Amino acid sequence: MGKNEFLTPKAIANRIKAKGLQKLRWYCQMCQKQCRDENGFKCHCMSEGHQRQMQVFGQNPDRIVGGFSEEFERAFLDLMRRSHRFSRVAATVVYNEYIADRHHVHMNSTQWATLTEFVKHLGRTGQCKVEDTPKGWFITYVDRDSETLFKDRLKAKRHKADLADEERQERAIAHQIERAAAVSVAVAETPLASDPNNPTASHTDGAGSGTTGNPPAERSHFYSNPNPPRSLPNLVMRLRPQSPPPN
Ligand SMILES: [Zn+2]
Repeated sequence: MGKNEFLTPKAIANRIKAKGLQKLRWYCQMCQKQCRDENGFKCHCMSEGHQRQMQVFGQNPDRIVGGFSEEFERAFLDLMRRSHRFSRVAATVVYNEYIADRHHVHMNSTQWATLTEFVKHLGRTGQCKVEDTPKGWFITYVDRDSETLFKDRLKAKRHKADLADEERQERAIAHQIERAAAVSVAVAETPLASDPNNPTASHTDGAGSGTTGNPPAERSHFYSNPNPPRSLPNLVMRLRPQSPPPN
């Protein structure tokens, strides 16, 4: 509609007549023009504007059909998400709601010749669960947002469980190492404690040896060790009350 036609009697009359849903087949998608009847559509097809649009279409029909198909699919799925997000619904119900908007992209300008074909496409691409029933095709919207959220939560949970597992394993290994160390110390102590010439024997059991009163020979040997163990000062303090170290 041109600027000058706005609210002219003719424009108003056309609007009144054009109210409501009209025959989808008399809609020209390229010009986005709805005609009221077959005659009107024929006239439109002979118009200069339409011829120009058809030339544009002829230059790249695949791309134009692809664009309309994309738009059709997106609008249809938007409607599913808005109105039927959590319900199983007949495909025709959604389609009738979809075409209630006069300026919807018409299906005959898309790659899908029939609603059934389009519904199968939705099922194939995993955007809807589709069922062929005696009452026609039924579709259920696949809520990818919620699904992604659910999967993420599951992943996080699994990750947490893995971490706990790892921690448990680490603790078990540490425990094993401790036990192995304790066993080797016990094994090492047994022969060394009875050997008065081994300086490390009194070191490993240093704190205890002071109170149990080891033979002086061993102790003097211990303190003459050219490489005294690190805990020596502490050991000296503990031993002093009982027997002062020799010079
Ligand atoms: Zn046209």
